[in-house]
Amino acid sequence: MQEIKEFPKMREIYGSLVFDPKAMKQRLPRDVYENLVGAIEGRQKMDSGIADTVALAMKDWAVSKGASHWAHWFHPLTELTAEKHTAFVTADDNGFPLETFRGEDLMQSEPDASSFPSGGTRSTFEARGYSAWDPTSPAFIIKSPKGGTLCIPSVFLAYDGSPLDLKTYLLRSMEAVESRALKMLKLFGNRGVRYVRATVGGEQEFFLLDRPRAQKRTDIRFCGRTLLGSPPPRDQKMEDHYFGSIPTRVLAYMEDVQRDLARLGVDLATRHNEVARCQFEFAPNFTEANLSCDQNQLIMETMRKMAHQHELRLLFHEKPFMDMNGSGKHINFSLQDSEGRNLLKPSSNHRKNVIFLSFLSSFVMGVADYSGLLHASVSTPGNMYRLGGHEAPPSIISVYLGQAIDRIIKEIEDGNCDGDMPAKNTVDIGLSKLPEIIAFDSDRNRTSPIAFTGNKFEFRAPGASQAMAVPVTAILSVWAAGLEKFINIFEERINKGEDAIDAALCTIREISQMNRKIRFEGDAYSAEWHAEAERRGIVKARTIPEGIDLFLEPKTLDMLEEMGIFKKKEMESFYVIRMESFVKNVEIEMSVLRDMIWEGILPALSKQIILEKASCSSAEGCDLEGLDAWKGHIAKLAKAKLDLMEKTKELVEMKERMAKLSLRKHADALVEDAVPLMAEIRKISDSVEIYISSDNMAYPNYRSLLSLSA
Ligand code: ADP
Ligand code: MG
Repeated sequence: MQEIKEFPKMREIYGSLVFDPKAMKQRLPRDVYENLVGAIEGRQKMDSGIADTVALAMKDWAVSKGASHWAHWFHPLTELTAEKHTAFVTADDNGFPLETFRGEDLMQSEPDASSFPSGGTRSTFEARGYSAWDPTSPAFIIKSPKGGTLCIPSVFLAYDGSPLDLKTYLLRSMEAVESRALKMLKLFGNRGVRYVRATVGGEQEFFLLDRPRAQKRTDIRFCGRTLLGSPPPRDQKMEDHYFGSIPTRVLAYMEDVQRDLARLGVDLATRHNEVARCQFEFAPNFTEANLSCDQNQLIMETMRKMAHQHELRLLFHEKPFMDMNGSGKHINFSLQDSEGRNLLKPSSNHRKNVIFLSFLSSFVMGVADYSGLLHASVSTPGNMYRLGGHEAPPSIISVYLGQAIDRIIKEIEDGNCDGDMPAKNTVDIGLSKLPEIIAFDSDRNRTSPIAFTGNKFEFRAPGASQAMAVPVTAILSVWAAGLEKFINIFEERINKGEDAIDAALCTIREISQMNRKIRFEGDAYSAEWHAEAERRGIVKARTIPEGIDLFLEPKTLDMLEEMGIFKKKEMESFYVIRMESFVKNVEIEMSVLRDMIWEGILPALSKQIILEKASCSSAEGCDLEGLDAWKGHIAKLAKAKLDLMEKTKELVEMKERMAKLSLRKHADALVEDAVPLMAEIRKISDSVEIYISSDNMAYPNYRSLLSLSA
């Protein structure tokens, strides 16, 4: 029997590598601690004099945990994370080792920004940027085999103040939504509330493959997905994978990931098999939006490193395998006030329910007005193959509220605000029974890109490989805009002397009439919905480049500028980065596909043809009938070979030709010509794949890739 090793208990290690409020309290003088916590909670400004004290405490804490270096940790616009390590120990004037980490090191650092994309905000010669400490996300230690690094979450800015990272935009969008939410609560007469926080929980889907086998495939190594290969026939698919028991090898991996993340204060609440073979999901407990986005980066990083140690290949790509489920990152979100109340939680109290519906319909309003921004935020290369197929939501943005809420909103819409207020007598909309009704309302529509799921919304379109900061920024921006619109109407009614609850119900009515076009309760996969969405005028883009264009919709730009989230110039740079990344991605796939055909598939076909030809000739002596079929088969292989040669030549020429186009035209040409040509090549290659003997096979096929047994 296998020996069961004892591992440290989660409870004992949880947060041990985070400089969290507990560690701060232990190591900081009381006044400094209080000032810092006050600043983190947004109650007061941080006293610049405390930086040295905090830095010293942080350094001593980190060194006691074995760290030898420190780094500002930030998310450049590439969606990855970046860090530049600096040692704590330097030599003093006499050559003696000295441990230093000053307040100014903590506050600000100067990584060379020239190698990070800026979308043309700066030219390379002035490519200087600096990172600045973001105290709202706690510092942590990333352990390495020989020590560790103290990572300081930071924003990353150019010297002219324009952001070179995603976090700055995220923080701005948080501020936009939080200040409006606070105002809304005040209008309802809630004076005690000190702040409102956006809460976010991202479910992370992924594939795990046997590493040695996966690494034999150039497409997986360089693109994170298969460009060739046909799915195993239906009868070989294992439909019982979903919620079945997790393979032992994967479980061991997950447990190691969970333990490492627990040390970093990331609490992975659930783990399970996903729909496709070799597909799984982790979901952390939700937390405040900024921290949640940082934590998702840590989750992805930790998962990557750990996969290596377990001889596994981890795939975050949105569509690693043809005709199988892709991987998404469902983003759950809500707002929470300083008393810990979830503002999207229905209650049995009438007044609270009206507040709840006000926040809910404000969000729907924001989506109706600026669905383009949400669409743009998920228009990534990987989503090109995922959205609209195999249980992924379509790219048309709509909101699903669920039967109960939908009915109530419709009743409020039909209510009458002129004489009697609906709150009092016109309709009994069953608001007081809401929690029970919703508990029964189990009809959760899986086809909708945005769904209300009982006490939060869930945005299902984001791709698994995306940094959460982009879609979360989009969500919070549209919510802020929706709240703004709501508040304008609401406040005017209150100023006229209306009772807050009545005024709110009438505002919900008005707002809901305006956002009706974005609400859809039916099957979002159906052809009828696509036709209906066209009629409603909510189909925004058909391709990924068109989706990226939506970042520049004039009304979205105006809104973002007004809210102080993106300046026009900043968004234009961001747009260029996204479009460039799309183009680069497809270009890489074109090259890799060409290489795989020439390095692997064509030689495999040659070998198979030789084998068939030799055996067919031998059989010719045997007085057999039907040899023509065999010859026909050989001809089919030879024809496939010729076709592949021709089409890949075309692909290479196409790539060279397209490189001369301007960025936007290039992107279109790739979608219109290169992607279909790649599909054609794949089809030819896949059609002969089953005729190649296992000895001659160029790459592990789907069946072999999707089997995790060692
Ligand atoms: P499901 O797969 O049924 O959608 P999961 O349990 O896998 O649900 O994931 C739900 C996610 O939503 C978790 O990350 C959870 O922490 C998060 N979540 C729950 N409540 C909230 C909330 N109020 N705000 C933000 N996220 C939330
Ligand atoms: Mg889930």
